[in-house]
Amino acid sequence: MRYLSTRGQAPVRDFSSVLLAGLAEDGGLYLPETWPVLTADDWRALRGLPYPDLAARIIAPFTAGCIAPDVLQRLCRESYAGFDHAAIVPLTQVEDGLFVQELFHGPTLAFKDMAMQLLGRLFDHVLAERDAHVTIVGATSGDTGSAAIEACRGRERVKIVILHPEGRTSDVQRRQMTTVLEPNVTNLAVQGTFDDCQDLVKAMFADAPFRQDMHLSAVNSINWARIAAQIPYYVYAALALGAPDREVSFAVPTGNFGNILAAWAARRMGLPVRALCVGSNRNDILTRFLRDNDMSVQGVVPSLSPSMDIQVSSNFERLLFELLNRDAAACARIVTEFRQTGHMAVPDPVWRQASGLFHALALDDQDTKTEIRNLHAASQYLADPHSAIGIAAGRMFREPGIPMVAMATAHPAKFPDAMEQATGIRPALPPALADLFDRPERYEVVAARLDVVEDRVRAAVLKNA
Ligand SMILES: *Cc1c(COP(=O)(O)O)cnc(C)c1O
Repeated sequence: MRYLSTRGQAPVRDFSSVLLAGLAEDGGLYLPETWPVLTADDWRALRGLPYPDLAARIIAPFTAGCIAPDVLQRLCRESYAGFDHAAIVPLTQVEDGLFVQELFHGPTLAFKDMAMQLLGRLFDHVLAERDAHVTIVGATSGDTGSAAIEACRGRERVKIVILHPEGRTSDVQRRQMTTVLEPNVTNLAVQGTFDDCQDLVKAMFADAPFRQDMHLSAVNSINWARIAAQIPYYVYAALALGAPDREVSFAVPTGNFGNILAAWAARRMGLPVRALCVGSNRNDILTRFLRDNDMSVQGVVPSLSPSMDIQVSSNFERLLFELLNRDAAACARIVTEFRQTGHMAVPDPVWRQASGLFHALALDDQDTKTEIRNLHAASQYLADPHSAIGIAAGRMFREPGIPMVAMATAHPAKFPDAMEQATGIRPALPPALADLFDRPERYEVVAARLDVVEDRVRAAVLKNA
């Protein structure tokens, strides 16, 4: 499989190169040159497979030519071996026609582990083959960073530097990152928002000499391999609920548009997906876009669901590229203008397609707490604030006879204050993280300035080089 950039000015690459590169040199995002499409019989043949084997089968077309299928299967089995639920991605019914799929049974209790555990292993495999080293640089609004650090800690060929917005992640989220003391891990607390962090990471990648000297690589949701690794759980849920002989809908709490893009990809691969529902918090750029074709940046407002406190959903560029029938020049023009003006002028036919494909619901913090409380009262299900938003979106757009699956993206114990306010219950951390608040932390506070951050990355790379 070969990959091309959404902006059309970067070389076409294979899977391993895309894995290591993350962002394309032209600032675009990589997508597969062609989409693998499965027939109804192909889908049926996947029914009943254990999750890791199903994942390997779904991901295989994307890694074809780079990773042997038996290696991929081994990596998938290793990736999910440490999950604390036998089903890996268990499905629970919470209401008539409304299901929850829990994606938070990995080491950091959030859905990012689903992709990141595999990514760490893919990096190891590809770097060993090439006898190479990389420096992973990433921005996180909470969960990406800890999942990336957890996937990379102690790995010989990888240094990892994670930027998080100071004071804007939950204590649990911060501590999951800053209590990892392996020397290949560096945490930077940036005085700014998540978007500032993301802009700094993008700027480092745009600094070609720096990027080359430091062997920069990304594992945030612009990395194609992460999207690929998120497709299988949609397939798993759909097959369990009757696909390909029955349609299924999905509701996804959304920030960077990565998780829901994987649902879209599953649909593009021929899975009978009916509705795709986006849930967001007060940072509702996607909802405004899908309702009114208003993609305009407003300030980021902190919320109870910090992993969705995002105004620029990077992965949207991939959808835009597809909806523009892969017109890279048009895509580059629209996205560049958006970066300059803060307003995205999406052509009307493209917007109509998008708003026909996706439903959207935004919940403020008050409504999120009400959703958590009502759901718990009615079905004893404890959903964290992110998951609750997805569940509310799923309920709103569910249709008779079509199962709606809402993605539960974080364990409620990651957000104990919000849970307690909503339900009076303070969920306990699972045993593996029970002493999190007793562990020492290590991180540096830095200004949101490129030169400052590049200095810190350089120091991290030189350390024990
Ligand atoms: C990252 C994250 C999201 C948002 O996912 P995207 O892929 O950025 O849309 C939602 N919920 C939780 C708990 C997350 O960690």
